[in-house]
Amino acid sequence: MKIRLASPILQSDSIVDGEGIRAVLWTQGCLHNCPGCHNPQTHSMDDGFLLDIDEVKEQIDALEGQDGITFSGGDPLYQVEACLELAKYIKAKKMNVWCYTGFTYESLLALSKNNPKITEFLQTIDVLVDGPFILEKKSLDCIFRGSTNQRIIDSQKSIKNNKVCLVEKYYIDTKKKNNKKERLYV
Ligand code: SF4
Repeated sequence: MKIRLASPILQSDSIVDGEGIRAVLWTQGCLHNCPGCHNPQTHSMDDGFLLDIDEVKEQIDALEGQDGITFSGGDPLYQVEACLELAKYIKAKKMNVWCYTGFTYESLLALSKNNPKITEFLQTIDVLVDGPFILEKKSLDCIFRGSTNQRIIDSQKSIKNNKVCLVEKYYIDTKKKNNKKERLYV
C-alpha cells in the first residue's frame, strides 16, 4: 500500500503537534482550502512523495525518544486506509497517535457510513483535532490547534460513547465574559 506524503521523512522532536515529544507524518493532499492555511503546499493531491507504507514503518522503527506520532498535512483522512494501517502499527509499538483533520468529527461519522475504515481509524487513534482552520477564529491562546472552533477530541472514547468527548485536561476556565465562562486551551 502507498501513502502520499508532503515530506518523505518523518519530522522528529515536535512539541507543538500534540502532547509530549512527537514525530509528525506530513500527508499530502487537502481539499478544504481554509483561508490562511499555513501549509498550502500540501493541498495538491498529486504533489509530494509517494511512499510504500513499509518505508514509513521502517522510519517509525528507527525513531528514538518520541512519545507518539501525529498525522498532519494536508488532511490524513483523504488517505484513511494507509493511515489506519500505520496507526495500528504505531499503537502496537506502544506509542500514542494524534491526527489533525479539516473534517469535523460529525462529518467523518457521516462519511464512515460509506467507508467503515474511517470509524476503524477513529477507534484506533488516541486524539483527533478536528475541523477547518477558520481565520476569524484564530487564537494565540490555543495550543495544539489554530482556531477556537477546532476541538481536541478523545477519539476512542467518543466512538465508544457515541458523542464527542473532549480531552478535558487541555481545558481550563481562564476568564469570565458576559457572566459566561470562556474555555480556552492552555
Ligand atoms: S484542513 Fe488544514 S491543511 Fe487543509 S486547508 Fe485547512 S488548515 Fe490547510
